Amino acid sequence: MASHIVGYPRMGPKRELKFALESFWDGKSSAEDLEKVATDLRASIWKQMADAGIKYIPSNTFSYYDQVLDTTAMLGAVPDRYSWTGGEINLSTYFSMARGNATVPAMEMTKWFDTNYHFIVPELAPSTKFSYSSHKAINEYKEAKALGVDTVPVLVGPVSYLLLSKAAKGVEKSFSPLSLLSSILPVYKEVIAELKAAGASWIQFDEPTLVKDLESHHLSAFSAAYSELESALSGLNVLVETYFADVPADSYKTLTSLSSVTAYGFDLERGTKTLELVKSGFPAGKYLFAGVVDGRNIWADDLAASLATLQSLEAVVGKDKLVISTSCSLMHTAVDLVNETKLDDEIKSWLAFAAQKVVEVNALAKALAGQKDEAYFSANAAALASRRSSPRVTNEEVQKAATALKGSDHRRATTVSARLDAQQKKLNLPILPTTTIGSFPQTVELRRVRREYKAKKISEEEYTNAIKEEISKVVKIQEELDIDVLVHGEPERNDMVEYFGEQLSGFTFTANGWVQSYGSRCVKPPIIYGDVSRPNPMTVFWSKMAQSMTARPMKGMLTGPVTILNWSFVRNDQPRFETCYQIALAIKKEVEDLEAGGIQVIQIDEAALREGLPLRKSEHAFYLDWAVHSFRITNCGVQDTTQIHTHMCYSNFNDIHSPRIPSKEEIADRVNKMLAVLDTNILWVNPDCGLKTRKYAEVKPALTNMVEAAKQIRAEL
Ligand code: GLN
Ligand code: ZN
Repeated sequence: MASHIVGYPRMGPKRELKFALESFWDGKSSAEDLEKVATDLRASIWKQMADAGIKYIPSNTFSYYDQVLDTTAMLGAVPDRYSWTGGEINLSTYFSMARGNATVPAMEMTKWFDTNYHFIVPELAPSTKFSYSSHKAINEYKEAKALGVDTVPVLVGPVSYLLLSKAAKGVEKSFSPLSLLSSILPVYKEVIAELKAAGASWIQFDEPTLVKDLESHHLSAFSAAYSELESALSGLNVLVETYFADVPADSYKTLTSLSSVTAYGFDLERGTKTLELVKSGFPAGKYLFAGVVDGRNIWADDLAASLATLQSLEAVVGKDKLVISTSCSLMHTAVDLVNETKLDDEIKSWLAFAAQKVVEVNALAKALAGQKDEAYFSANAAALASRRSSPRVTNEEVQKAATALKGSDHRRATTVSARLDAQQKKLNLPILPTTTIGSFPQTVELRRVRREYKAKKISEEEYTNAIKEEISKVVKIQEELDIDVLVHGEPERNDMVEYFGEQLSGFTFTANGWVQSYGSRCVKPPIIYGDVSRPNPMTVFWSKMAQSMTARPMKGMLTGPVTILNWSFVRNDQPRFETCYQIALAIKKEVEDLEAGGIQVIQIDEAALREGLPLRKSEHAFYLDWAVHSFRITNCGVQDTTQIHTHMCYSNFNDIHSPRIPSKEEIADRVNKMLAVLDTNILWVNPDCGLKTRKYAEVKPALTNMVEAAKQIRAEL
């Protein structure tokens, strides 16, 4: 019984790659230094998997930036603006595509399916020429082999590559990247031939787009691609790996009838219908790579449950054709629990990060082969039982309150226009009121104050005074700018989710539980392990203090339940929506305390609401229903005179956090365009996101122009 890992985190247990990359980009270390860190990381990852007993160990899942960009490099599909003249793509061209350089901007980046990872979007045109220009896959295969590890080289599959690409500027309307299929396959053939010659016996093509809603011409492209590659692939075992959901039934049919493919990888964690699909028919003689161990979460697997699932699959596909795997690449989870020295033993026993998941996969494979490690399985069962019964997980009161929510739609009792009138009477704002989204520039000094307070190096009093001073500075600036509804600037917050998570019960935090977001950027999501409640007010102290400094309305600033949920590792022992309702109830209490504290405008940010949209359209309605419901819960109880705002960001974050200072004319033009379709009494004028990543030198002139633009239009109306 064999085991397989779809892919592994690249950053290293202590973000070694991040620091090596950033030091290289800053010119503080050489390419050799960077390569050394990368080589060491790869070696330790391969060794770790080999030691654990994994049979199919992936290579080429390491990357200096992104696996899709690596594929672009492999194909030589470098956009003209990087002035690449051919030959093996070097680090300078590679990082210019990823990050831009002094003269040319970076390629676009976008979300990788429904994860928090972002990839570099290939830009293709009918004129794009392809040539084999990065030998990374073969180099890594050989590198592992030299270490005594025979790996499964992983490539982004040709069809997913094209379906994830965009048409270059100028050809958007007339051209579909998929039409280039026959032009990229020759490069794939060269890569395959080299891997074969070097001794590879397996190859893995990641084709995750197969889990999305596809049209019949997309499916024809899969059939065409893998039949075109058939002779190149002969003699190799070919795994097509899918993940993040189940494959829709018609796609499953197409996929399982590809004759050049010998193995299929399916996600059994998020792919809720995968089991049914496989049972409804699986091609004889082919391998099933069963992704039972969750690659996107941090919980220890329920080994007994997985074993039962695997046994039922074994009956369908045959003992020697079942391979135990992860649901997707482990790059979407934290790296190694060993480095969590601050988590208590009980919580730790409930968790498994990438390194621990590798061991789980192998333990399942051995158990299926009749060599069950009884001690390991009973420790797992005990940990699961302790998690189920722990009083730290269950809070009866919260459970009751969440259950009581059912049945009501939590809409406000009065109409929007009645509330707008009541609010206008109280707030007395001009038309096109101006405001900002919450945060003001975060200085090095501010970060130092927060850090030192956390480390108990400065007293509570010193900390409070420093934050108070910052708030008063921000209030003054806004009054000088003549902004109508002020914010306190969020100087006390490191992060819009962590700040709340740290004050809510049911949350815990890791020291090194980093997950790559893009390039060298990592996030450290909080872990929601128990029923969520709010023991104490979280923002009222600062908001009241800020309101006391000004006669203008001070906006209360909260993160909404859906965003807190989507940016955390979420418990897997109850549906996501139930956890979300619990967070909503906690935020509701905060909203009510802010209102009681005299705050008249409250903004509840839902920057990540769109991120949670399921991959398949058929599931959107259900998600949106509970997500919107959760938001409504937070504020359905306020008085008509309390004004509720939200901020949802742009779903494409490339457009925000830019240093560009728009002119008064440009802003006025935008506002006028909006006034053409919106009523004057509902339109506000504000920046597109918080200002914490910006500098005052950008913020002050931009806000000055914004306020002037609003005033000019008011005068014209
Ligand atoms: N209120 C938050 C801020 O201003 C919103 C951030 C966000 O949308 N990402 O920083
Ligand atoms: Zn935003």
